[in-house]
Amino acid sequence: MKYIFVTGGVLSSLGKGIAAASIGRILESYGYRIFMKKLDPYINVDPGTMSPFQHGEVYVTDDGAETDLDLGHYYRFTNTPLSQANNATTGCIYESVLKKERRGDYLGKTVQVIPHITNEIKARIDDIGSADPDIMIVEIGGTVGDIESLPFLEAIRQMKLDKGRDNTLYIHLTFIPYVKAAAELKTKPTQHSVSELRSIGIQPDILMCRTEMSLNDELKSKISLFCNVEKEAVIEAIDVENIYECPLVYFQQGIGDQIIEKLHLKKNKSDLMKSWKPVVDIAKMKKEKAVDIGVVGKYVDLRDAYKSIIESFNHAAIANKCDVRLHWLEAHDLDNKNYRESLKGLHGILVPGGFGERGIEGKIRAAMYARENKIPYFGICLGMQIATIEFARHVLGLEGAHSTEFDPQTPYPVIDFIPEQRTITEKGGTMRLGAYPCHLDKKGKAFQAYGKEEISERHRHRYEFNNDYMKAFTDKGALISGINKENELVEVLEITDHPWFVGVQFHPEFKSKPTEPHPLFRDFIKAALKNYPAR
Ligand code: GLN
Repeated sequence: MKYIFVTGGVLSSLGKGIAAASIGRILESYGYRIFMKKLDPYINVDPGTMSPFQHGEVYVTDDGAETDLDLGHYYRFTNTPLSQANNATTGCIYESVLKKERRGDYLGKTVQVIPHITNEIKARIDDIGSADPDIMIVEIGGTVGDIESLPFLEAIRQMKLDKGRDNTLYIHLTFIPYVKAAAELKTKPTQHSVSELRSIGIQPDILMCRTEMSLNDELKSKISLFCNVEKEAVIEAIDVENIYECPLVYFQQGIGDQIIEKLHLKKNKSDLMKSWKPVVDIAKMKKEKAVDIGVVGKYVDLRDAYKSIIESFNHAAIANKCDVRLHWLEAHDLDNKNYRESLKGLHGILVPGGFGERGIEGKIRAAMYARENKIPYFGICLGMQIATIEFARHVLGLEGAHSTEFDPQTPYPVIDFIPEQRTITEKGGTMRLGAYPCHLDKKGKAFQAYGKEEISERHRHRYEFNNDYMKAFTDKGALISGINKENELVEVLEITDHPWFVGVQFHPEFKSKPTEPHPLFRDFIKAALKNYPAR
């Protein structure tokens, strides 16, 4: 196995995840099997218990791991296997070292960062589960210079010795700021970041330079000289209109061939222009139609909290060859007086997943508005529970119906704990997590979208539809169109007398790609397009 290590310098938010994923995509286009891994320097064991305001979305894998949102990029750009093995944090590394220490595995030795923590990091990097990749791409979270990332950098430095120089490659993503007053691009921060890396023994082989403006020849020569990197290996990572262009932009500068040469791999022919470019062309094409979709949520100021949803809409836009304009509505602000005005003119409404009570009534109003005005509605996880509560209150007349998450005393607990959840007190990793099968009813819109009866989707929630109310719901025009057959859990709820009203207990957004748009997002946008152009 060959190893590529991706580090970041100067500042955060440079798009290291997208850069790593783009490299993955490029290498796959040569016919190589890749495995992508994210190492995060924070002390949380996983991001599952972190607030979306802090960390953005929690991305869930089939095997139920709650992981960093960069794994979502990996999924959307590449075919890397994805499981628990793709993400490790300082927290989980210390957790396992401490367990070994308590068990006496270290035979009385003093347990230290070097070698015990670094060995554990190296073991994590080499953990490929049952996969058999040719190339491992490891992205190190954080920025070079952070105290927390030092053990990770030390571990990847050692890996060059362990695995051999022909088998390891270091890529550093850095930033070239444009200073307006001087009308110049500045290379000094990059020089500093590379010298910091070199001081811990890592010489980058390739530099990817984020920049607003094209780097001219002279600048590239300067960066090459001061950073001790070949000039061809100074890759310009210029701002692009659409993130899916990134693999093309890097590929055209020869990054693929360079990696292959430096790692002494066989230079097969790349099919990137055939397999990836057509999708990017559609994404960038000028569209005739546009739909306006309202997203009614709680974390709307922080778009990272809805990363996969936003991307799923981008993929649905590709599938429908239209623009999707997202309107972010803070649920808490939708009160009885203004909600009609705020929602007027939308072609579709989506209520995404969420936790906690704030904004719940606003979301219920949004679902009511969509149901009554026959506007396409897509409810995801909490959004499906919201549609259930709304239907119970306003169609079944069950006043005060609620989820016991928000009102434990409700007279009509239409959404309730599953029995196994009742006794759990720990928060981390204790929800219904990961992939579960679901059987679709041929009468439903969900079946229409997927075109098959058996599907599998990923979950992350504690509460469920309360089956005591199943008959009352279906008697009044709801359709339970998706069910987990093993334990009779309701997975999809629809309203029949409506153009498109679908609530799903799972998270379809985790499984959409630009090359394979998710069927539910695709059909939701298709239904919304039927209302175009009226606003
Ligand atoms: N809070 C709800 C639950 O735990 C929904 C979770 C979600 O939307 N991911 O069931």
